[in-house]
Amino acid sequence: MSLPKVDVVIVGCGAAGGVMAKELSTNGMKVVALDRGDFLRTRDVAQLDELRWQTRGELQEPMIKDTQVRWRPDEKTDTIGLPFLMASGIGGSTRHYTTQHWRMLPHHFKQYSENVARYGASAIPVGTGLVDWPMTYEDLAPFYDKVDEEIGISGKAGNINGTIQAGGNPFEGPRSKEYPMPPLLQSTVSRLAKPVLESLGYNPFPGPSSIATENYKGRPACTYCSFCTSYYCFIGSKGSTNVTVLPVGISSGNLEIRPNVRVIKINKDSGGGETTGVSYIDATGKEQEQPASLVILSSYTYENIRLLLYSDINKNGMVGKYFMDHHYPFVWGYFDDTVTNPSTGPWAANVAIDNFNGDNFDHTGLGFIEGGVLEALGGDLQAIAGAGVGSWAVPMPDDTPSFGEGYKQALKKYFRRIASFISQVPSLPYDANYCDLDPVVKDQIGMPVLRITYNAYENEIKACAFMQNKAENILKEMGVAKMKKAGLFTPPTTTHEVGGVRMGTDPTKSVLNKYLQSWELPNLFVVGGAVFPTYFGYNPTHTIEALAYWSADYIKTQCKPGGSLTQYF
Ligand SMILES: Cc1cc2nc3c(=O)[nH]c(=O)nc-3n(C[C@H](O)[C@H](O)[C@H](O)COP(=O)(O)OP(=O)(O)OC[C@H]3O[C@@H](n4cnc5c(N)ncnc54)[C@H](O)[C@@H]3O)c2cc1C
Repeated sequence: MSLPKVDVVIVGCGAAGGVMAKELSTNGMKVVALDRGDFLRTRDVAQLDELRWQTRGELQEPMIKDTQVRWRPDEKTDTIGLPFLMASGIGGSTRHYTTQHWRMLPHHFKQYSENVARYGASAIPVGTGLVDWPMTYEDLAPFYDKVDEEIGISGKAGNINGTIQAGGNPFEGPRSKEYPMPPLLQSTVSRLAKPVLESLGYNPFPGPSSIATENYKGRPACTYCSFCTSYYCFIGSKGSTNVTVLPVGISSGNLEIRPNVRVIKINKDSGGGETTGVSYIDATGKEQEQPASLVILSSYTYENIRLLLYSDINKNGMVGKYFMDHHYPFVWGYFDDTVTNPSTGPWAANVAIDNFNGDNFDHTGLGFIEGGVLEALGGDLQAIAGAGVGSWAVPMPDDTPSFGEGYKQALKKYFRRIASFISQVPSLPYDANYCDLDPVVKDQIGMPVLRITYNAYENEIKACAFMQNKAENILKEMGVAKMKKAGLFTPPTTTHEVGGVRMGTDPTKSVLNKYLQSWELPNLFVVGGAVFPTYFGYNPTHTIEALAYWSADYIKTQCKPGGSLTQYF
């Protein structure tokens, strides 16, 4: 059935869709936001139930059923199904995310030109589509500021209008003012690590987070309960879009949110020159058509790519190309005596260094380019989920038996004495890493699932080994008795999947222009990490949200009398 036409239909109401919904509805546009999950209120989920939310991952469940993902490392290997942690529901994955909120470094916008200028063209690995972003840090900075204010970010500035600030990150790009809230109180591991990092000549600073550290715009300050990752914050301290921007959109009177509806197609006019809206399956199982003047696709990287391919919006063949992710070269340390109590406070309450991120260090002779932030353990390891089984459980030292009395003794001794350092090493955009529709496997309604072909190459492996080496050194200086290292490859279920719907300046080599507008259908916009042309060594959400504000700003300007959505064509 075709419903009455609206100005804008938004597909997915998470980090990116939430910002778009607020910005466009408060600008007077009639907006319908569709999401396949529930609209939960804080009171619906205010139980600190580790089995329910962490071990069994209930917030992710509908997404896992619908958006199956298959992965293979290369074209010669069979695919396997992958579990993943992205959420389904109003607020998207920001409902249960960890809340680290980083701006990109100015260098990250110029990875191609700055690496070539410093190390020569031969330093760029063969088979990569490394490019500069179509905008600069300076272009995006006002929109990063907007995220700071509207989502509410806590942290310590390192560079205000070009003046380096004591205690902040000296490598960050200039920001116009201090964060709206002071940083989280530092975890025990972070407090132990800070003097060691300083003695090694590094520049430690508290990592930024969207957790409120003071009462902020109706959100209470964090109580350091330590139930963050995989949990809906039971008091609403986290900067989840369902408690920050979406209520503002709803109160405009122009935003209608429709939960529990799954979009299955982006529709086109008969000439294939414009989108006419979307088709979805409603909560009763009926197919509906929602016509709209503008379509915003914001259903996370996997589903953004799948919906474009399934809707046959891929004239230049670029959809799915240059898929990227993070690798996590963890090092865990175990003290004999020092109690670190990782069940206190958020993960984001960590000390970090940026000395090995981007191009903040000389890569000559190292055999790789780029790098990542290196951060200490914040907290967020609950007693059952963190010490038990499942994705969030911490491993015990290598010499621990895998079950029985010996395992119990190790857990008893080490769980409260653990320290760790982790980096987020980005993959480069490789020709060989891409997504397409699986030719064989279909989901329960007969739609082909997404097939990811993705592997790590020499650049990432060397970068991960380098970061692990730095982490080991730090933990050794901190005096840990034992250490354990993670593998150097992380499969593409990190929750930081990006690329595949690349923005750029060349319509033959990208899917979107710099305002995240489709080259093929000018009234279609895609927001989310899928649009990143290259990746960086931080969590992605601050940039995802800043880009949504940037794109919304363009739409608002061009949809005024005298504006034109086709000015870039
Ligand atoms: C456990 C966890 C921890 C994380 N920690 C951090 C962190 O510390 N810092 C950070 O920067 N990032 C973190 N992330 C990643 C962060 O959550 C994502 O980068 C961000 O939410 C992506 O924004 P998005 O709008 O693209 O997708 P989402 O926020 O996931 O929103 C997508 C929405 O689309 C809906 N949807 C999907 N398909 C359809 C469909 N077919 N029809 C209708 N609706 C659909 C989904 O239900 C969902 O609500 C974490 C993620 C997880 C899961």
